[in-house]
Amino acid sequence: MKYDADNVFAKILRGEIPCRKVYEDDCALSFYDIHPKAKVHVLVISKGLFRDYADFIGHSTDDEIADFARAIIRTAEALNLTAPGYRVVLNTGRNSGQEVPHLHAHILGGESLANRL
Ligand code: 5GP
Repeated sequence: MKYDADNVFAKILRGEIPCRKVYEDDCALSFYDIHPKAKVHVLVISKGLFRDYADFIGHSTDDEIADFARAIIRTAEALNLTAPGYRVVLNTGRNSGQEVPHLHAHILGGESLANRL
């Protein structure tokens, strides 16, 4: 399947749609989710054009993978979530419910998620 450059996160990366930015580096951009599913819900999207996590791992270098993993940690640090803890979700593939076909990690926190999947 080909990457769809019309997806909403591609538009955010190109500056065509605004976002509430939390963190940015050479490989990733992080911003608040428009429909939060926890008190703090932030998305970390790759600057590389990958459809999902499987596409990313299958077609990227070890350095790119490490950089994206670090961007998730840096975003959590910027949100002061390190001490209380947080959840990271990466949807991929048909059954995941992924809506936006651009690699992204959800960071969820700001409250206890212990009894929520
Ligand atoms: P997915 O289901 O693809 O893993 O998650 C996509 C997420 O993107 C959803 O939680 C949804 O609320 C969020 N989202 C969709 N469109 C926009 C948008 O235009 N701006 C922001 N900030 N979030 C969006």
